[in-house]
Amino acid sequence: MIHKAVFLDRDGVINDNTNHVNQPEDLVLYSWTASSIRRLKEAGYLVFVVTNQGGIEMGYFTETDLNAIHAHMEAILKEENATLDEIIFCPHFKSKCDCRKPNPGMILTLAHKHNVDLSSSWMVGDFATDIQAGNAAGCRTIKIGAPDPDADHSCSDLKKAVDHILHN
Ligand SMILES: [Mg+2]
Ligand SMILES: [Zn+2]
Repeated sequence: MIHKAVFLDRDGVINDNTNHVNQPEDLVLYSWTASSIRRLKEAGYLVFVVTNQGGIEMGYFTETDLNAIHAHMEAILKEENATLDEIIFCPHFKSKCDCRKPNPGMILTLAHKHNVDLSSSWMVGDFATDIQAGNAAGCRTIKIGAPDPDADHSCSDLKKAVDHILHN
């Protein structure tokens, strides 16, 4: 079976990134995040998180810390009946890699693993690098925050992005 998917950036899309998230207690999900993910799942999309976490290579936190943050995030979402299909991250900062956005490596890895048709899928992010990664992977793209001419659509938050996806 071929799936359609929505790839979500994490910081600034799922959670407030006014302050760095270095431990689970730092994580503040937006009030609309769980319902937005739930609506995508109900519409038949796989939902993934693809996040650059160069703080690992820089030594601000460890992979163990990041896994604890993500376990906490999934527990909060589960309380509101929202589930993610998989979370993947790039731990690199200065190292050359294929996964750090704007490279499309994380999206391509997930698409291959889960049999995703990228042309019927979306990447949602708040940085130009998210849009570049989504475009390079062959997804349609939605920019959160300041509009990006390279994105297929721009809007203020994930709730509005989901409104757009479900009507296109
Ligand atoms: Mg972000
Ligand atoms: Zn990487």
